[in-house]
Amino acid sequence: MPDGLAGELGAPLQEPLFERIAIIGLGLIGSSLAHVCRRKGLARVIVASDLSPEVRARARELKLADIVADSAEAAVAGADLVILCVPVGAMGTVGAAIGPHLRSGAILSDVGSVKSAVIAALAPHVQKGVHLVPAHPVAGTEQSGPDAGFATLFLDRWCILTPPEGSDPDAVAKLTDFWKAAGANVEIMGPAHHDLVLAITSHVPHLIAYNIVGTAADLEAVTQSEVIKFSAGGFRDFTRIAASDPTMWRDVFLNNKEAVLEMLGRFSEDLTALQRMIRNADGQGLFDLFTRTRAIRRSIIAEGQETPAPDFGRPHPDAKT
Ligand code: NAP
Repeated sequence: MPDGLAGELGAPLQEPLFERIAIIGLGLIGSSLAHVCRRKGLARVIVASDLSPEVRARARELKLADIVADSAEAAVAGADLVILCVPVGAMGTVGAAIGPHLRSGAILSDVGSVKSAVIAALAPHVQKGVHLVPAHPVAGTEQSGPDAGFATLFLDRWCILTPPEGSDPDAVAKLTDFWKAAGANVEIMGPAHHDLVLAITSHVPHLIAYNIVGTAADLEAVTQSEVIKFSAGGFRDFTRIAASDPTMWRDVFLNNKEAVLEMLGRFSEDLTALQRMIRNADGQGLFDLFTRTRAIRRSIIAEGQETPAPDFGRPHPDAKT
């Protein structure tokens, strides 16, 4: 488990921020939230639930929560913070089921990778007195399931809050405190803008990885064993992204259609320009672009969002960082 930063989360809070948190969906993100809530004492009682009986059983074995409820409805009863950690396409169903059981004054949030569609799916089920404050922690790995989570997943990562217009500022402030205590940096933006930014920084890169790995798998002139054998030439890094959860990513593309298609359009135009540079032997054009892109990676490292270690941090005994 990549939880090698123990201690950096700091000491548990003196007083929990919430009395009772309900986490619905215990995959990578839900189980990571459960771990950090426990480690930092963010809620007095942690209640969790998942649709899958196997996941609930595993969550009990892993002691992810104080109570693992058999249904989402039972889990949210009496909770002052509810966080939905299910695939984006399941948000509406879960919202409809729990809506009548949310207590007045509760904050209802989520961690979905798309925001406008999630707000549209949840809003009709939010009764008066319940505060909807959607969020997206921009942190993850290619793994999924209740065993994949770890407490430091959100440490030094961004969590974007997209409160709908007219949201209660106290509820937004309280959720901000929660994510900061979980180790994240918090930014607030509109849902449509979030979806556009994430389309280019996350959704389109995943689509490109799925595409290139699919193309390589379908090649006839190059054998499968050659693709695997020589993967360190660059392909291997795409396969990590292309190993991400199929349900989650299907839902992302179905629910962020416009923004992804807009960014894909720009991507295709730039790819055509690159093709032209290669055809015209425009070495200077290629060199200039690659110099600009290298600078972007350097700024990501400078911002602490990536390791400076070579080969994406893979261990090499003699490598200098
Ligand atoms: P995950 O590991 O696949 O976990 C999702 C869990 O939700 C699974 O245990 C799933 O059960 C359960 N579930 C599905 N439908 C449900 C329902 N109707 N009621 C209760 N539980 C249900 O996925 P994840 O990576 O944690 O992603 C969860 C959410 O976080 C998604 O909205 C995703 O967009 C967002 N997110 C993901 C990442 C990332 O990198 N992974 C990063 C940021 C945000 P089954 O296995 O039985 O279907």
